[in-house]
Amino acid sequence: MKRQISDSEKQILLEKNRKKDGKIYCFIDNEPIEDEKNIHFDHIDPFAKSEDTSLDNIAPVCKNHNLAKKDMSLSEYRDKLSIEKLFKSKEDNGKQLKLNDILEAKFQNDYGFIVKYDYNSAKKSITVKYYLDSKQTKLPDVKEYPVFECPITGLNFFYAQVPVNNIVNDGKEESEIELQPRPLIFDHFWNLYRHLRVNTQLQPSICRIDGDNPIFVFDGQHKAAARIWAGAKSLDVKIFIEPDVIKLMKTNLVAHDKLKQLRFYSSILADKLAQIYGVNWQKYIETADKKTEKGFCNFVKYSETSTDENPVKQIEAFIVESILKHKDNKILPYVAPGNKTGKQYAISRDSLKKYYFRYFVTKPPLDVEIDSKDDFRNQEVENNVKLLNILAEKTLINKWNPDSNSAEHKKAERIYRAGSIMAWFPMLRNVIFNKLDLINPNEAERILFRNISNEKWELISKFVDKLFSHKIWIDNDPNIDIVIGNKKAELTKKLFEEQGLTDKWILGLIE
Ligand SMILES: [Zn+2]
Repeated sequence: MKRQISDSEKQILLEKNRKKDGKIYCFIDNEPIEDEKNIHFDHIDPFAKSEDTSLDNIAPVCKNHNLAKKDMSLSEYRDKLSIEKLFKSKEDNGKQLKLNDILEAKFQNDYGFIVKYDYNSAKKSITVKYYLDSKQTKLPDVKEYPVFECPITGLNFFYAQVPVNNIVNDGKEESEIELQPRPLIFDHFWNLYRHLRVNTQLQPSICRIDGDNPIFVFDGQHKAAARIWAGAKSLDVKIFIEPDVIKLMKTNLVAHDKLKQLRFYSSILADKLAQIYGVNWQKYIETADKKTEKGFCNFVKYSETSTDENPVKQIEAFIVESILKHKDNKILPYVAPGNKTGKQYAISRDSLKKYYFRYFVTKPPLDVEIDSKDDFRNQEVENNVKLLNILAEKTLINKWNPDSNSAEHKKAERIYRAGSIMAWFPMLRNVIFNKLDLINPNEAERILFRNISNEKWELISKFVDKLFSHKIWIDNDPNIDIVIGNKKAELTKKLFEEQGLTDKWILGLIE
């Protein structure tokens, strides 16, 4: 591949590359090469691997860089160093690189512009508007595509070439469900980058659209990142239209070659862990120990393949998300995202976490064998959806209406005030503990981590009715609103007690 350069050509190259200050600069880091004996010449582009007679594709490089780059062309080597730098700067901050970091490195804040779409299921076509800026001040580009349907699952999708500024990695850090939680792997990214600079992209990246958001990339992120780094303006993608996220996650997992050979777990949590932790999970399940959340968390802690995805947090977040994003969940429309509050929402996601899930989701990591007869994580998710739906039906659906000043809305508001929920969520747990005939107080920590019969659910539902039939929720006494607005659990508990709202009253043990 190396082309011999004659002495006369060398002279031409030296003169061509000499800067105004008389010095020759290294192509790689743009530092002057002080000793002219150390000036080497090499190819810039990888395209011209055979005979290239043009001197335009040849640049000066210092001796050290020329040795270090091995068989790479100059531009490749320079790119490699800059990518390594990007990876390292993340690692130095204790983080791992993701697709969004590549976008940010390339475009600063000018990425993740939303798209809006109009899916015509009768015509089997979709019109997509690609916005050109974050404030949507410019007119969007509008494109129409034919929509296909998967004959197996009925999922709808289309193929497109989309502007790179309209995509983001699928999944936000921490609490949101992460379809694509894995970081970019340097070697994989670099090899693809090298390949895609001179070859066409065969397979599309896989995405989904859902609402007025950017296009979410959940598979083929290395391809996407490599092309973006190489300066691509658009990406070849296959886009699913508003798919069921949990199902898609499972599909994505099973489809991955590396994980294909793994034992299939019916635990959705095991799927999730396999997806996030890839190699670590694979190694872990090859060990002889019984497989538990706790065992895995310890395994990750001492693993050579380091990861900054805190497993306890990931497990917790995943269970919570599985509940909130469950297809049957009815309370979600009343839950504000993040720590947002606002008149239209009854409760914030943070409040749910702090005051509801702490009582009704068993804190990870569990020492229970995954998928064994003692593992009730899947049931726990279903049970929580059931309980939240009971609450939604009895307190919110057809009652919560911030635009009206109805008595029912006022009651719902009072029920979900911060001070209230701090007191009645634990009270509700005590009632359920009692109605499930649990005796061992430790069982309260795992209240919904079990099979619960329909008869028991009917009982629970009845006692929820009783809880919200108390006069405190409709009493005109302004003092009530003052106390429950205080966010002080002790004050509310005292008030509830004074007014006779206690678990004993709910249970009918006292009048
Ligand atoms: Zn150099």
